[in-house]
Amino acid sequence: MYANIIVDISHEQLDRTFQYRIPEALSQTVTEGSQVVIPFGKGNRRITGYVIERTSKAELDESRMKDIICVEEKAVAVESQLIRLAAWIRSRYGSTMIQALRTVMPVRDKVKSQEKTWYYLNVSREMAQKTLEESKRKKYRARERVLAAFLERTEWSREDLMDQLKISQAALKPLLERGILREEKTKKERGRVKAYGAAAPVTLNAQQKTVADDICHRYDAGDFKPSLIHGITGSGKTEVYMEIMEHVISQGKAVIVLIPEIALTYQTVMRFYKRFGDRISMVNSRLSAGEKYDQFMRAKRGEIDIMIGPRSALFTPFSNLGMIIVDEEHESAYKSEYTPRYHARETAIERMRIAGGMVILGSATPSVEAYYRALKGEYRLYRLTERASQGSSLSKVWVVDMRKELENGNKSIFSRELEQKITERLSRKEQIMLFLNRRGYAGFVSCRRCGKAVGCPHCDVSLTAHRNGMLVCHYCGYQIPMPKTCPSCGSPYIAGFGLGTQKVEALTAAAFPKARILRMDMDTTSKKGSHQEILSRFFAGEADILVGTQMIVKGHDFKNVTLVGILAADMSLYANDFRSSEKTFQLLTQAAGRAGRGEKPGDVVIQTYSPDHYSITAAMEQNYEAFYEREILYRKMLHYPPAGHLLALLLTSQREEQAKKLIKMYAALIRAQYNGMIDTIGPVAAPVSKIRDTYRLLLYMKSDRIEPLMQARSSIEQAFEEETGREAAIQFDFS
Ligand code: ADP
Ligand code: ZN
Ligand code: ZN
Repeated sequence: MYANIIVDISHEQLDRTFQYRIPEALSQTVTEGSQVVIPFGKGNRRITGYVIERTSKAELDESRMKDIICVEEKAVAVESQLIRLAAWIRSRYGSTMIQALRTVMPVRDKVKSQEKTWYYLNVSREMAQKTLEESKRKKYRARERVLAAFLERTEWSREDLMDQLKISQAALKPLLERGILREEKTKKERGRVKAYGAAAPVTLNAQQKTVADDICHRYDAGDFKPSLIHGITGSGKTEVYMEIMEHVISQGKAVIVLIPEIALTYQTVMRFYKRFGDRISMVNSRLSAGEKYDQFMRAKRGEIDIMIGPRSALFTPFSNLGMIIVDEEHESAYKSEYTPRYHARETAIERMRIAGGMVILGSATPSVEAYYRALKGEYRLYRLTERASQGSSLSKVWVVDMRKELENGNKSIFSRELEQKITERLSRKEQIMLFLNRRGYAGFVSCRRCGKAVGCPHCDVSLTAHRNGMLVCHYCGYQIPMPKTCPSCGSPYIAGFGLGTQKVEALTAAAFPKARILRMDMDTTSKKGSHQEILSRFFAGEADILVGTQMIVKGHDFKNVTLVGILAADMSLYANDFRSSEKTFQLLTQAAGRAGRGEKPGDVVIQTYSPDHYSITAAMEQNYEAFYEREILYRKMLHYPPAGHLLALLLTSQREEQAKKLIKMYAALIRAQYNGMIDTIGPVAAPVSKIRDTYRLLLYMKSDRIEPLMQARSSIEQAFEEETGREAAIQFDFS
């Protein structure tokens, strides 16, 4: 046996491997991830390297191959663990070892570190407080906001001030001149944040305490079975996490907290900083590779105990990692959209299995997978059933059948119920959120004579109407002016159908002319920082109504919102996906959870064309178990995950004939080789069957066990490698 070894464990050098022989005596101990001592170069210098692969294929002449000297027995480096994790990712999800390694290893910054401007509070807090009062009296609004920010956190980078707080250079100037703030340019410490005034921890209520105590207890006893906390929105899960984190950190261990990017708001992050001070770091997708690398290195050097971030924070190189918390574990953003298409929940569990520690999953609407595993006893299940914050209670939910509205002559997008409640809220100066399910799904233009929708010539999707009169393809950006006649049959009867967020905004403005309205969707938030800006403005009471898509339902705690309206609740039910009922239930429940977070009770109005669907009725009752029981029956009946395993092969090619030929061949191969073990479905055209003139075909493979599917994947990979003259690509995806 031979070992492929890397000697420079940096992102750029990952594909430079050297092959060594594994001597007989070490054949048991050398595995993927082992740190080994090898003779290197002409002088046979002794250096250490990492085994990334064991193989029986010699890449050079046997006589020139050197032996591994020994396995490094000292402390296992975190790199070893990450390489083992990469090996697991490769075999679990399918990719090359290099792709898997690139996923887990931080990218070193080759460019010189950029000079960055920092601002510091240069006077005592009392002095700053006094100046703040003075600014308030004189109505220097901008200055007031600057001072408030520096009272919360004493150092700010220029970017954060500009992006997150919308503070301009001009607002800083007078404070710099008076010596209240100090400016410093530095190349060090990128992305660091320091918070002021440790917040006194809240006293956990009985339910929260039971959960935190039990988890800490099990942690101390070395019982590392993953925990799933099913806690309704606002039940205080974050407080429970923080209590447990404190316990784990006090034992010298580190914690990673995964939060979906969209919920990683300034508000959320500040809660952690206030509790844990500056031994904490955060990464997000807006950081450059270099900034992220710096934060990862701080973790490696032990300068911080906590890393907060989205999916990829999972690979923070803590050598003393004791726990990973996956908040909102049901979020689809936890699954990577690139090869290897790993899922952060499963990968976190594997990482903690390797490192020896616990994973905590939390959600108000657990994924069907996680709940299924919990009921089977693979995870420990905990429940939080009450809202934690004093006086806040679950909101009341009303379901309105929109078919009846139309029968009664109401053609508006607002049911009478919702319209009346909006008017009520406006007069009481309370805030309203209007949530439109799914952007781009509606807004297409179709012909009332031939029924065809106007589509993109390069992609198999319909174009979306924008208010500027253009029709846009959301896959490739293709756009044309709104045609006057149907491109298919020439009839003049073509019109926009359904709703987009822009349209809802316009209709809301028309129906409630006095209301101040903000809109948040992909179009309004594509600019850096704009997401945060819209939220801050709404939070500050600059608008009465926030209209938006998915993004407005995640994790924000708006105390003055007492009404949530959900328009077209069922739109996501008919998506082409076995998870569409689950996603609908999650969205509705999370959206409903936005109302009544403060002292005033909240109302939720769900408008739908399918009021009897179990996703809608269960969301109305806010009854997760009722939803789960119906859903799991369906999954079991059709052998969908988690009751079975599903592997999709996506084959893409510009040459349609070749694509069809290859995928049919692979379908036949699987049927022949795995008869009785794997069911194949298809091949079929992908839901979007063409993107940028590339054809996309799918083959589904289903099995009760995952192993045959992993083997099937290898078989197809091999056949694909051996195919000569191919102009196609393949991708695998486990659901
Ligand atoms: P979740 O993460 O479950 O949505 P949070 O932890 O964000 O819930 O808590 C919701 C709100 O309730 C927050 O404003 C939080 O500060 C408050 N809260 C949580 N636990 C308590 C408690 N034990 N006592 C008082 N307030 C609490
Ligand atoms: Zn037509
Ligand atoms: Zn297109």
